[in-house]
Amino acid sequence: MRLLVVEDEIKTGDYLQKGLTEAGFLVDLARNGLDGHHLAMTEAFDLIVLDVMLPDVDGWKIIQSLREANQATPVLFLTARDSVDDRVKGLELGADDYLVKPFAFAELLARVRTLLRRGLNSALVEHMEIADLVLDLPRRRVTRGGNRINLTNREFSLLELMVRRQGEVLPRSLIASQVWDMNFDSDTNVIDVAIRRLRVKIDEPYSPKLIHTVRGMGYQLDILDDI
Ligand code: CA
Repeated sequence: MRLLVVEDEIKTGDYLQKGLTEAGFLVDLARNGLDGHHLAMTEAFDLIVLDVMLPDVDGWKIIQSLREANQATPVLFLTARDSVDDRVKGLELGADDYLVKPFAFAELLARVRTLLRRGLNSALVEHMEIADLVLDLPRRRVTRGGNRINLTNREFSLLELMVRRQGEVLPRSLIASQVWDMNFDSDTNVIDVAIRRLRVKIDEPYSPKLIHTVRGMGYQLDILDDI
């Protein structure tokens, strides 16, 4: 597994490279944003650990370029500030996870391993299942309890996102950027309408209910204990 670490702080960069190498990864270290951007765009990595505060090309730009080039390489970004805005921004741009500095190396390693596992799964798995709901990814077909369910392309993408991120509360802004490729405008109810339609198709006649509204936060797909 080959990782790219982009970090301009010498000590942190060395520490990450050493730790990840000892954990068995091949590690390329870029000490500035320009090199990081170049490597990320021209070479293949299994995962990128990305400091966002870089003096030249910042981490946001790197994430943006990757995703615009349809590169799905998982990105774990490091942010110095415990700021909600930064975290949301990174995730909206298409990063997969983040850590707030300072962090424990063990935690970074755990996140890296989880993301790599998720990446492997998404590359190899053709079917995803939750309860009796089955997604056939190559054919973009869905069944529940063995019954074929007709979804529009958009509905399928929405469901796929939710199943891939089972158990996570997905903010509307994240759903908007991943499924509609648009910035979330809180005046629009397009996401709520789409969720409602999806519910009618995959949840209403069935049990347990899989799609849940988390008030004030977003939507979640999971098997929760029905009360
Ligand atoms: Ca930095």
